[in-house]
Amino acid sequence: MDLKNYIAAVENFPKEGILFRDITPLMLDGEAYKYAADQFSQFAKEKGATLIVGPEARGFIFGCPVAVNLGIGFAPVRKPGKLPRESVTVSYDLEYGSNSLSLHSDAVKPGDKVVIIDDLLATGGTMNAAIQLVEKLGGEVVGLAFLIELDDLKGRELLKGYDVKTLIHY
Ligand code: 5GP
Repeated sequence: MDLKNYIAAVENFPKEGILFRDITPLMLDGEAYKYAADQFSQFAKEKGATLIVGPEARGFIFGCPVAVNLGIGFAPVRKPGKLPRESVTVSYDLEYGSNSLSLHSDAVKPGDKVVIIDDLLATGGTMNAAIQLVEKLGGEVVGLAFLIELDDLKGRELLKGYDVKTLIHY
C-alpha cells in the first residue's frame, strides 16, 4: 500500500513558508490506518517491546493502536503541566526558544524495552527528548518508529545508535 496517497501537503501551515504534512486523511481511511498500525506493531513485536511511548499529540494516534495490538502498555509524553502525578521533565532547544516534555515517573519500569512512536521525524528534537525521559527512568529504548521522515532535516543523525523505522520518506 502506498501510504503517501493518504498524506496531504498543506502550504504555509502553521506558518508562512512551512509545508505541513497532514496525516488526518490516513486516519480517516480505515484500511490505510490499520496498515500503518500493523507495520508499527510488527516492528515493536520484533524488537520485543514491553511498553510503547508516544509524544503528544500525534504520537498517541499511532502509539495506542500498537499497544492494544500487542497487549502491552502505552505511556504518554506530554508538555509540562499536563500530567497529574510525579513526572520527569527534559528541555531541548528549538530554532527559536526551547521546549520541554514530561513523562510520569512510574510510567517506565527499569528493564522495560520501549518502542517510541511519533507521526513525523523532522529535526529529531522531540524524539531525542522522549528518549532521554525513558532512559532517565531506567528503560531501554529498543526502537523508534515514525510514519513520516523528512530526510533533508537529517533528524536521523541525532538519533544514531537507535533502530529507526519509517514508513514514508520525503
Ligand atoms: P522535530 O522535533 O523532529 O523537529 O519535529 C517533530 C515533531 O513535530 C513531531 O512531534 C511532529 O508531530 C511535529 N511536526 C513537525 N512538522 C510536522 C508536519 O509537517 N506534519 C506533522 N504531522 N507533524 C509535524
